[in-house]
Amino acid sequence: MSVWYKEIWTVLLLLVPISIIGAMTGLFLPLLFLLTLCLLCRQIYQISRFEKWISKGGKGQYPKTSGIWEEIYYHVYRIRKTEKKRKKKLGKLIEQFHRSTEALPDAAVVLSANDEIEWANKAAREVLGLQQSDKGQRIPNLIRFPEFIRYLQSNDYKEPVILPSPLNNRITLAVRVVPYGSGLRLLLAQDVTQLKKMETMRKDFVANVSHELRTPLTVLKGYLETLQDMDDGQSALLTTSFKEMRGQTERMQHLVDDLLLLTHLETQRRKSQCVDVPALLKQICKEGHSLGDTSRRIHLSLEAPVHIYGEENELRSAFTNLLGNALKYSPEDSPVNVRWYQSGEEVILAVEDQGEGIAAADIPRVTERFYRVEVKRPKKVSGTGLGLSIVKHVLMRHDAKLLIVSQLGKGSTFSCHFPAQRVCG
Ligand code: ADP
Repeated sequence: MSVWYKEIWTVLLLLVPISIIGAMTGLFLPLLFLLTLCLLCRQIYQISRFEKWISKGGKGQYPKTSGIWEEIYYHVYRIRKTEKKRKKKLGKLIEQFHRSTEALPDAAVVLSANDEIEWANKAAREVLGLQQSDKGQRIPNLIRFPEFIRYLQSNDYKEPVILPSPLNNRITLAVRVVPYGSGLRLLLAQDVTQLKKMETMRKDFVANVSHELRTPLTVLKGYLETLQDMDDGQSALLTTSFKEMRGQTERMQHLVDDLLLLTHLETQRRKSQCVDVPALLKQICKEGHSLGDTSRRIHLSLEAPVHIYGEENELRSAFTNLLGNALKYSPEDSPVNVRWYQSGEEVILAVEDQGEGIAAADIPRVTERFYRVEVKRPKKVSGTGLGLSIVKHVLMRHDAKLLIVSQLGKGSTFSCHFPAQRVCG
C-alpha cells in the first residue's frame, strides 16, 4: 500500500471512534476539532524537525520517523547523496583538467568578458610572465604590445597574432584566442621560435637562389637569341633546339621573377597611395587585347569610379595574373568579363571567363605555391603555378579577400573583395 493511502487510512480509522463516541455523547464537533488539532500539532512537529535537519545541511542519517514523513526524508536524503557523488566526480574532473593544463607545453589563460585573468597555467607564467597574484587583473595591462591589444579587441580570432615573449624577445609566440561559454575566452600562446627561424631561412634561401639565377639566365637568353639570329635554317634539329631552349629559359625567367615578387610581398613593408583602379584596369585590359588574338574580346565594365588605397604595382601584378589566367584557361573566342563595382560595403573586381573551370576539390588548393591543375588540354598551357599565390598575398596586404566560384566545363569567376576602409576617392 502506498504511504499516502496509509496516511488517509489512519485519519479515517481515527474518525470512526470519534464518530461513535461523538454520536453517543453528542460531542461530535468538539471531538472532531480535538482530533484535527492533534493531527495539526503532529505535522507542525514533523515540519520543525525537518527544518532543523535540513538547516544543518541535511547531513548524515535523518531522524527516525514513519509514514509520509519517512518517505520525504528518504527522498531528500537520496537526492543529497547523488548530489554529493556528482560533486565528488566533478571535483575529480576539474582536478584532472587543472593538472593536464598545468602540464601543457603551451600557455593557456582563461579570460573573463572584461579581459580579466581568471586562471593561468604554468607555461603562461613562464612565457607570458604572469604571476599567481595577477588573477583578476586585465590582461592588456600586463601584455602591452599594441598588436596584441588590437587583436584582443578585434573579435576576429581566425588567425593567431605573432608576438615576442614579454619576458624574452628572442622567443616568438603565436597567440590565439578561443571564445567559449558566455563571454569567456581562452588565450593560448605557442612557442613558434624554431618555426619562425625556419620560415626566415626558407624565405632567405628562395630570395638568394632566385636572385643568383637572374644573371646567368639573362646571359643564357642573350646568347640563345644571338644563336637563333645566326641560325640559317639548314638544320631543322638546331632550329627546334634553339626554339625549345629559348622557351624553357623564358619559363625559368618567369619562375624566378614570380619567386622574387612573392619574396618581396612577404618581406617588404607596404607603401600605400591612392590608386586609380579604373585607369589601371583600362591599361591592363589594353595590354590583354594586344596579347595577340584579336578575335578574343575582353569586356571591361567600370561600374564604380572608385579609387582604393594600396600599392599600384602589386595590384597591377594581381589583376594581370587574374586576367592572364582567364585568357589562358578559356577558348580563344570566348569572352572574358572584367567588372569593377561596389556591392554593399565592399568594392569588387570580378574576372569572369567561360573556360575549362576548376573542379570543386581543386578550388581550395589553386592558391598554393606551385599548385597546377593537371587537365588534358588541346594546347599546352605554360605557367609557373605561382600566379594565384601572388594574387592571394597582394590581396592580404590590401585587407582584401579572393573568392573563387567555378564549375568544370562552364567557367570561373575570380573576385577580389576590398573593404570600404580602403576606398580613397
Ligand atoms: P599558373 O601559372 O599555372 O597559371 P596560377 O597560380 O595562376 O598558376 O594558377 C594555378 C592553377 O589554377 C592553374 O594551373 C590552373 O589549373 C588553375 N586556374 C587558374 N585560373 C584559372 C581559370 N581562370 N580557369 C581555370 N583554371 C584556372
